[in-house]
Amino acid sequence: MKLSIVGAGPGAADLITVRGLRLIKEADVILYADSLVNEEIFQEAKPEAEVLKTAGMHLEEMVEIMINRLKAGKKVVRLHTGDPAVYGAIMEQMALLKEAGVEIDIVPGVSSVFAAAARAEAELTIPDLTQTVILTRAEGRTPVPERERLAELAKHHCTIAFFLSATLTKKVMKELMESGWSPDTPIAVVYKATWPDEKIVRTTVANLDEDMRKNGIRKQAMILAGWALDPNIHQKDFRSKLYDKEFTHGYRRGVKA
Ligand code: SAH
Repeated sequence: MKLSIVGAGPGAADLITVRGLRLIKEADVILYADSLVNEEIFQEAKPEAEVLKTAGMHLEEMVEIMINRLKAGKKVVRLHTGDPAVYGAIMEQMALLKEAGVEIDIVPGVSSVFAAAARAEAELTIPDLTQTVILTRAEGRTPVPERERLAELAKHHCTIAFFLSATLTKKVMKELMESGWSPDTPIAVVYKATWPDEKIVRTTVANLDEDMRKNGIRKQAMILAGWALDPNIHQKDFRSKLYDKEFTHGYRRGVKA
C-alpha cells in the first residue's frame, strides 16, 4: 500500500509538476483540504475518480478513508497546496499511515514563497546583500517557539518570507522594527500568487498593515520582506550600502538611501 502526497503548486493549474499531474491522472481517489488548491486540476483526473474535500474531516477520519481505499487496491493521492513540506501538516498524517503499514511517496510542489517571488520579479538572495531566506510565520493562535521569535530572527537582516500571517501584520511591523529594521525596508505582499485574482502590493515595514487593509488583503497572502524586495534594486549599488554601518542599523538612520 502506497500513498502519494503531492504538492499542487501555488494556484495556476499548470504549475503542478509533471510527476504530480501524472499521479492525478492515474488516481482513483484524490483528497484535498485547502481552498488554495485549484480545482481545475481535477479536470485531468479520471471521470470516475473520487474527489474528496477533507476540510470537514478530522485527522483520524481522513486517514481511515485513505487506508480503506488503499486496502481496496485503489490509487490514492493526497493533494496539498504549494509544497507539502511547509505548513502542510503532513507529519501527523504520515505517522498514522506508517503505523498502518502504508508507504509514503512525497512529490514536491512549487511553494507559494517561490511563486510570490516570481510574480514580484524578485531574487530573494541578492549577492552581497543577503544570502539567506527565512521561512516563518507570525505568532497567532498557533504558537511559535520562543527561540524563533521574529524579533530574534530579524536580527539577521536577511530576506524573510511570512506564511499564514496576513492578519498579524501589526505584530510583524512591530517586531521587525524592534530588531532594528528600517521603517522604509521594502515589502512585497502577493495575494493569491498565480491565481486570476492575484494582487501584488509593494509597501514598506512602516506601511504594511495600512496597505494591506487598504487593499482588503487579510488571507492567502505571502509577505516577502527585506532589501532584496527593493523595486529599485537594479539601479542600486547595494554593495556600498552593505558596507555602510548605517544601513544595517537603518532604523536609526532616518534618511532615505
Ligand atoms: N504548503 C504551502 C503553504 C500552506 S500554508 C506552500 O508551500 O505554499 C498557507 C499559507 O501559504 C497562506 O496563508 C499563505 O501565506 C501562503 N500561500 C499559499 N498559497 C498562496 C498563494 N497562491 N499566494 C500567496 N500566498 C499563498
